[in-house]
Amino acid sequence: MDQTMKDIFASAVTPAGYSDIEWKARVELALCYRMVDYYGWTTQVYNHVSYRIPGTEHLLINAFGLLYSEITPSNLVKIDFDGNKVDDSPYPINKAGSVIHTALHKGRPDVHCVMHTHNPDVQAVSALKCGFMPLYQEAFMFYDRIGYHDFEGIVLDESEQQRLVDSLGPTNHTLMLNNHGVITTGPDVAWAFMRMYQIIQGCQVQLKVMASGGELLQASEEAMIRTREQFEGGDAQGGAEVRLPEWPAYYRLMSRLDPNWIR
Ligand SMILES: [Zn+2]
Ligand SMILES: [Zn+2]
Repeated sequence: MDQTMKDIFASAVTPAGYSDIEWKARVELALCYRMVDYYGWTTQVYNHVSYRIPGTEHLLINAFGLLYSEITPSNLVKIDFDGNKVDDSPYPINKAGSVIHTALHKGRPDVHCVMHTHNPDVQAVSALKCGFMPLYQEAFMFYDRIGYHDFEGIVLDESEQQRLVDSLGPTNHTLMLNNHGVITTGPDVAWAFMRMYQIIQGCQVQLKVMASGGELLQASEEAMIRTREQFEGGDAQGGAEVRLPEWPAYYRLMSRLDPNWIR
């Protein structure tokens, strides 16, 4: 899959004013926003996905006020770890976005992409005392990999940043924001996206199982850990070099749906 991925991104021409690395990061992140829209995980113009431009201390994030279907590589906004804009983008950024995302990028240097959604199924689970229940194969990737963060109000205050980092902890890749939503992270956009896809599906399944009222069939802890390690490729946080096959497929899909999305 490495080759497929490489070939697709190699076909993109870097416009003037961007390094090859930054433009590739912009294309990957814009694709992520488009796919969040495609799957219907959007909340109007709110929520965010941030991506650290590899080798820098700069993040890319959505321009506040644009629908995800309007996001393109060039209208993403570049900010520093303190949430200040470092390009001449005419767009504002969302304050809650910069507070949450800069905190997690700063606090967890192994994390390069931070995704945050308010999907209703996840919000339903975020309001349950039992938290997320890993109940089946794909959900086992979250076994002992989810942190929980108590609700304090809309995250606009820098004083909450350290508590967010502490709630995620050193080894989790997913953070359930209690009574709020969820954050998934990854060494790149594709990993964070795959985890978002699976946590949303996992919450949907959990709610169905709970509503059924049936007696739970519990997989063994050994099987859950083994499955998680199979997903993680043996590397505790997912293996930054492992490429996911769905990502080139999404690239092809978006190029069919909107042939001019890279602009
Ligand atoms: Zn966010
Ligand atoms: Zn939120």
